[in-house]
Amino acid sequence: MPFDPETIRADFPLLQRSIRGVPLAYLDNAATTHKPAAVLAAIDELYRHHNANVHRGAHTLSIEATEAYEHARRIVQRCLGAEDPSEIVWQHGATDGLNLLAHGLGETRLGPGDEVLVTALEHHSNLLPWQAAARRAGAHLRIAPIDAHGVPSPDGFAAALGPRTRVVAMPHVSNALGTLVPVAEFAARAHAHDAVVVVDGCQAVPHLPVDVAALGCDAYVFSGHKTYGPTGIGVLWARRALLDELPPYQTGGEMIRSVSFEAAEWADPPLKFEAGTPHVAGAIGLGAALAYLATLDRSAVADHEQALVSRAARELARLEGVRVVGPQQGRVGVVSFTVAGASPHDVATLLDQHGIAVRSGHHCAEPLMGRLGLTGTVRASFALYNTHAEVTRLVNAVRDAAAMLG
Ligand code: PMP
Repeated sequence: MPFDPETIRADFPLLQRSIRGVPLAYLDNAATTHKPAAVLAAIDELYRHHNANVHRGAHTLSIEATEAYEHARRIVQRCLGAEDPSEIVWQHGATDGLNLLAHGLGETRLGPGDEVLVTALEHHSNLLPWQAAARRAGAHLRIAPIDAHGVPSPDGFAAALGPRTRVVAMPHVSNALGTLVPVAEFAARAHAHDAVVVVDGCQAVPHLPVDVAALGCDAYVFSGHKTYGPTGIGVLWARRALLDELPPYQTGGEMIRSVSFEAAEWADPPLKFEAGTPHVAGAIGLGAALAYLATLDRSAVADHEQALVSRAARELARLEGVRVVGPQQGRVGVVSFTVAGASPHDVATLLDQHGIAVRSGHHCAEPLMGRLGLTGTVRASFALYNTHAEVTRLVNAVRDAAAMLG
């Protein structure tokens, strides 16, 4: 059955909104996505009927809340193709997970003279924690190069690996350009150097089926709110052996086996990394979001999104004064562009007058923008509920903005 975004839109209450009297065209999905009614209902159900702290109680509500919370963990496990639910660690978001990994691997794997390799595509969240970890350890941060379209070159990546490379971090998909990184190929090359491979999957999980075993990475993180789930919840997956190796990032309640005044023994993963009361509603909401996605034909969704992205890139590139940046092929979810003579912020402000929500600026990838010789772009980013009519509105509004501002 062909995928019908109009049917899907009915599942997302916020999409009924108007902005300045016109229907909202929400094209800022790489920043955050809207939530289907199933997610709102799951959160509402928890707070109305089962609210309790998890893992601590003998009473019925606590047992019910714990069961729903752990059920959500198993949904994530299935979604990522992970071997065991104990490999799924709840985090506040991708940023939280990447900081945990950088702190832990900084301690267990990095020493003076060692190297961490990241790509030039990195979101600040997958750059700054590694900068800090390298600095603390006396290690060096190396940057795998990209070409003028923001595509990492396999040869450049291979050349940046060396005998001292201990950790390699990369995005699965670039949030600023939509570049799809060949993770499996890069992970295999990194493993040939015995490096640990960390993947930032924030912009992949909403768009692509992800199988961590097929990718061959060692750790993978993503944020719930970019995948139709709530804010404040994210996921860190890592191989069980790596989780066993890593020290806890935070200590406190819930993450111990035993404690004395002098010392403590940690619980097994994932609890070792989940100190304090977790975001129970967030985890359950994210589970509901992934369960919702699993009811859809994911390859039809991907085809639909791909058609929107390709058409938007093609038609924007034809406009006078507009330059589309990023990869020529294999772009996922995102179309980034500039308008000659206009600041990205002014373009985004004008588009908002037409009810069109896009993002402008460096997209938390300032070094990437510098490499491309840009200070920022306008970014239209797509989700399963976007339509061809919205692409038409975007292209027409950008044409008007280019004429007015350029
Ligand atoms: N990595 C990428 C590629 C992202 O797009 C984002 C969010 N813009 C992050 C990391 C950080 O995610 P969060 O703010 O949800 O922790």
